[in-house]
Amino acid sequence: MMQTTAVIIGAGHAGLAMSRRLTERCIDHVVLERGEVANSWRTQRWPTLRLLTPNWQTRLPGYDYAGDDPDGFMPAADVVATLTAYARLAGAPVRTATTVHTLRAGPRGFEIQANDDHLHARAVVLATGACTLPAIPAVADTVPPSVTTFTPLAYRDPGQLPDGGVLVVGASATGVQLAAEIHRSGRPVTLAVGEHVRLPRSYRARDIFWWLEATGLLAERYDQIDDLTRARHLPSPQLTGTPEAITTDLSTLTALGIRIVGRLGRITDGVAQFSGALANTCALADLKMNRFLNRADQWATESGLDDDLPPPHRFAPTRVDPHTPLELDLTSGEITTVLWATGFRPDHSWLDIPVRDRTGRIRHDGGVVTGAPGLYVLGLPVLRTRASTYIHGAAADTEALADHLHAHLSGRRR
Ligand SMILES: Cc1cc2nc3c(=O)[nH]c(=O)nc-3n(C[C@H](O)[C@H](O)[C@H](O)COP(=O)(O)OP(=O)(O)OC[C@H]3O[C@@H](n4cnc5c(N)ncnc54)[C@H](O)[C@@H]3O)c2cc1C
Repeated sequence: MMQTTAVIIGAGHAGLAMSRRLTERCIDHVVLERGEVANSWRTQRWPTLRLLTPNWQTRLPGYDYAGDDPDGFMPAADVVATLTAYARLAGAPVRTATTVHTLRAGPRGFEIQANDDHLHARAVVLATGACTLPAIPAVADTVPPSVTTFTPLAYRDPGQLPDGGVLVVGASATGVQLAAEIHRSGRPVTLAVGEHVRLPRSYRARDIFWWLEATGLLAERYDQIDDLTRARHLPSPQLTGTPEAITTDLSTLTALGIRIVGRLGRITDGVAQFSGALANTCALADLKMNRFLNRADQWATESGLDDDLPPPHRFAPTRVDPHTPLELDLTSGEITTVLWATGFRPDHSWLDIPVRDRTGRIRHDGGVVTGAPGLYVLGLPVLRTRASTYIHGAAADTEALADHLHAHLSGRRR
């Protein structure tokens, strides 16, 4: 059995950032990765995906974006290149092609079964990602067999889909991007819209992520958020990263010719039924967007920036067609594909330690796993701050958790 002080499972940005932090603290460790560095960006993302966060925000411990397009949005291939270079820069001791099958508590720490090897470690960091599996609603079971279904993890390009109409379910970052891309391929697209977070790509000549950061919203701590469970389950913002930095909201998609319908409720005898509350859902998203823009304006005034920025303004409310259909017969041949853009979930099913709740989610306090001293989790939404959901949030998260881990090893935390 191999002995090491700490094991990090997963060599995405979070695992690599943690490796850098442990190296800074001279903590002997190994990073176990089932594929290659940045495996999820290589194997689980579609090629046209671009980050919705601007390049200047792609920063990690000891790394700041230094390219020539700080305001651009990185394609997935560039994320792979960036993380591969970061692994080298951080000197991360990554063992690739090493899948962890079981993690259990041992006499003085943890026992890990990875491929055919057994490892023993005093501390373990789970950095296996928040988006490993698709989150598909139960209604998926009632889609007629004549209709092809896809998840974003398997989707690569519209050429994979059969000819004919496509129903994209979910209108957050993934849904709006894929709806637009599939529409451009000539297929008629219907987009089923539930609760969503509407944001403009830019406001007062600054990218929206500049505002989210400047106003302090992204820095809000998990233990200061009123409804943390809700914050952790909020859909991703309805944003895309394009070379032209365009806004991709529902009004833009409607103008392109994409049909917007309400939330998919159920499918009865092959007929999909959509919520009639679409107008209300959109009005609520507009209201929340304006609430944030009010906060942004107030912050700009208090910071004395009003003279440096264009004046405040508001965006037109989302246009909703009053004749939006409430039903669609999936057996008529009009729709040949359903794409579930309904979110993602982590996969910690291989954990043989009772740290998960009834829904399978790990119980933790800001990344410190509850009831398993020495076990940490990274990369989950709003783990320690709202920024934890994004790549750059790993900098502060790993700093805090590496300090905790260091104290645990030195016996200062029992
Ligand atoms: C479609 C999409 C778009 C996103 N866009 C953005 C964006 O624009 N900006 C942004 O900041 N964030 C974005 N994110 C969110 C976030 O940055 C990513 O989910 C990111 O990949 C998470 O990094 P991670 O290191 O936590 O996990 P991952 O990158 O998923 O890395 C986890 C690693 O663990 C490995 N692994 C898993 N299980 C095991 C096992 N049992 N044994 C060994 N290895 C294992 C995997 O192979 C993988 O390499 C996006 C996410 C998605 C899904």
